[in-house]
Amino acid sequence: QAGRDGYQFFNQEVRNEMLHQHHLAGRLQALLNQDGGGELSLHYQPQVAARSERIESVEALMRWHAPEGNIPPSDFIKVAERTNLIERLGDWVIRQACRQQAEWHALGLKGYRIDINISGRQATNSDVFQRLEDCVAEYGLTPRDIGIELTENVLLEADVKVRDSLRALHDRGYKIAIDDFGTGYSSMSYLKMLPVTALKIDRSFVTECAHEPKDRAIMEATVFLGHRLGLEVVAEGVENIEQLELLREMRCDLIQGYYFYKPMAATDIQRLLLGGNNPPSHRVSTGHGEN
Ligand code: C2E
Ligand code: MG
Ligand code: MG
Ligand code: MG
Repeated sequence: QAGRDGYQFFNQEVRNEMLHQHHLAGRLQALLNQDGGGELSLHYQPQVAARSERIESVEALMRWHAPEGNIPPSDFIKVAERTNLIERLGDWVIRQACRQQAEWHALGLKGYRIDINISGRQATNSDVFQRLEDCVAEYGLTPRDIGIELTENVLLEADVKVRDSLRALHDRGYKIAIDDFGTGYSSMSYLKMLPVTALKIDRSFVTECAHEPKDRAIMEATVFLGHRLGLEVVAEGVENIEQLELLREMRCDLIQGYYFYKPMAATDIQRLLLGGNNPPSHRVSTGHGEN
């Protein structure tokens, strides 16, 4: 109403945001109708063994190279979830990752798992796990070739059907990681019953761990807990040597972060792996000698 400027301004902002999201959704839908996804692609970020620094697996991360610049996945995945496009987007990711893995196999690159992210709205429909298995079979892959990452909130909110599907995947040998561990509801009791194989320490604990004793304590406790539960522990967002050394002391298993590698296009990963999967040059040296 005239005279209530603040309210009107807010309204306009909300309206613009809605229009923007609607616009993005339309474009996303058009891209998903294109063969190959057009401006969409998957990038892959290596996860390296903390000690050998060799690449063990990669995380698939969506990229949208729009003409006006890159649109971050956090933005368009939110839009996709709101508009029911997430199912198609998720299927596109699954297919793309399976196709990539099959291509690597054909090149002789075996044993490098591709982990894909499954978001909340995607997992509420347990069919996604069936489609994952179908796609893995279609491309002649095995459960070892594709892993999944879910956040703790998704796992906690999962209904019986979803939990059964996860258990089936787990029993068939799929790796299932809890992403952003420690940032969700973090109820300890669910760790007892959920079929997971790994914990991913969230970047927010890693970033300041060199200066923040509390972050360090949480990281250390997570590694300890994970190992006592027989799980693999991965740290994300590792950017410097101080963080790496701390995680090594704590016996964290896998390291993911800019310190080693940023997310990369498939061809770059391919070149790296075909070149012998050697540690990145800034780390190649005398070895670390600790044991
Ligand atoms: P996430 O699964 O926790 O992925 C890790 C995020 O941390 C990625 O951001 C990655 O690029 C970033 N990262 C990794 N190492 C470092 C580091 O050393 N420093 C910093 N500053 N950042 C680092 P990205 O690619 O922007 O993805 C953001 C989120 O979007 C992901 O968080 C995931 O939740 C979601 N996402 C990405 N791709 C997909 C997808 O295909 N499907 C679904 N459902 N979600 C996706
Ligand atoms: Mg992830
Ligand atoms: Mg993560
Ligand atoms: Mg995270």
